[in-house]
Amino acid sequence: MEELKALIRDIPDFPRKGIIFKDITPLLGDANGFQNTIGTLCARYRDRKIDMVVGVEARGFVFGASLAHALGAGFAMIRKPGKLPYKTHRKTYSLEYGEDAIEIHQDALKPGQRVLIIDDVLATGGTVSAVVDLVRTHFDVELVEIAFVIELDFLSGRKKLEGVPIFSMIHF
Ligand code: AMP
Repeated sequence: MEELKALIRDIPDFPRKGIIFKDITPLLGDANGFQNTIGTLCARYRDRKIDMVVGVEARGFVFGASLAHALGAGFAMIRKPGKLPYKTHRKTYSLEYGEDAIEIHQDALKPGQRVLIIDDVLATGGTVSAVVDLVRTHFDVELVEIAFVIELDFLSGRKKLEGVPIFSMIHF
């Protein structure tokens, strides 16, 4: 895991002053690093009968679609408003300043499916708790776990997700 950690680059003051952005592009650009990341996640979920992987725009798509393919599962997208072409369910949530929203297609998940949600980084947990709300409000599915490539422990995002199993590969 230390090898993978070394492929994550800190970008200070991006996108705003005071934020240290965890840049995953060196990890994606390293064939072994990318393969090991998906391999680790695949080993964890291979026997968990995952029907659908739900990825969060945009970096969650990269890991989510690769993992879904490796698991032989389907893939569903959670996107920012106005991006999905078909009928959607929407969830609005508050940010540090103002609000944001996410959407999913109304037919993205089927009753009884076993679902894994994935994103690249668990920071404050605001986004992913909105994702969990969106999925739980509109779909009668079994949420198996939420996976992250990176968790920023000092932001305690996990506390917003009590009762939901969480797995993070790399901790900072
Ligand atoms: P959160 O604060 O958990 O709602 O984070 C929202 C989204 O912003 C996550 O999906 C991450 O992709 C991204 N994000 C937040 N903080 C960082 C960070 N320090 N480095 C990279 N991505 C981040």
